Amino acid sequence: MRRELLDALDRISHGDFNVNLTAGGRGPMPDVIESVNQMAKQLGDLEQQRQDFISSVSHEIQSPLTSISGFAALLQDNDLPPDKRQHYLDVIQAEAERVSSLGDNLLRLSALEEGATLVKRRYRLDEQLRGVILGLEPQWSAKKQQVELDAANVIIDADEDMLRQAWTNLVHNAIKYTPPGGTIRVHLSAAVDGKGSTCQVSDTGIGIDGVDLPHIFERFYRADKSRAGGGNGLGLPLARKIIELHGGVVSVTSQLGVGSVLTVRLPA
Ligand code: ADP
Repeated sequence: MRRELLDALDRISHGDFNVNLTAGGRGPMPDVIESVNQMAKQLGDLEQQRQDFISSVSHEIQSPLTSISGFAALLQDNDLPPDKRQHYLDVIQAEAERVSSLGDNLLRLSALEEGATLVKRRYRLDEQLRGVILGLEPQWSAKKQQVELDAANVIIDADEDMLRQAWTNLVHNAIKYTPPGGTIRVHLSAAVDGKGSTCQVSDTGIGIDGVDLPHIFERFYRADKSRAGGGNGLGLPLARKIIELHGGVVSVTSQLGVGSVLTVRLPA
């Protein structure tokens, strides 16, 4: 068994995590063997996650670039009608923004995952929500959407910049996934016991299918990849990470074709 154990450790050190030693009834060191098996499994899982991550990032970079180069090629045609030319330019701009926001979001997410320190101060959460809604006005007014804010006066002790990012992602999603003319409602209330607050962002949008619902907070997950207006599936993971760093939780309920409600509970 000593030989097999040493072999297994050697394989692991060379990146082969397919190790499954059998301790055998009354063999020596069953606990050490079990630990080695566990270590190999965990290292294998980590390696798999790393590979998945690289392949998602490559895909997220590749697909907008393919589209940019395709539309740039179409623009070479000097006889293009102006409306088509404008449409191709809009696509190129949107796709370029998508790659650029991928870079930003990845950096932010990895900074948070490495253990960011919160720079907390006391401020009015309702005023922050009002500011976020105002900041997104170009997006919702272009879609002729109604945005309603119903917010109690809530004072919070939090990292203002980080939380602003989380609210922006949630409200921006509500706008993106709600057709023109729809309604987005942001409701903020203090918890009944006075401990903490609850913020809900609801929309009358396209909703999320039950099979997608458990996954929407995963990195790079998009319910419908072909859907126009989507980003790169990092907005919700970022928002969740920020909320969790504040000791809060975020949950979602949704109905296809009816709308979605994202609920954030923050402790006092
Ligand atoms: P994205 O950048 O694609 O919007 P997110 O991480 O913010 O990525 O969201 C993940 C996915 O969850 C989206 O692609 C979309 O399919 C779904 N989603 C998020 N918010 C909503 C919403 N309010 N209504 C419908 N679908 C939503």
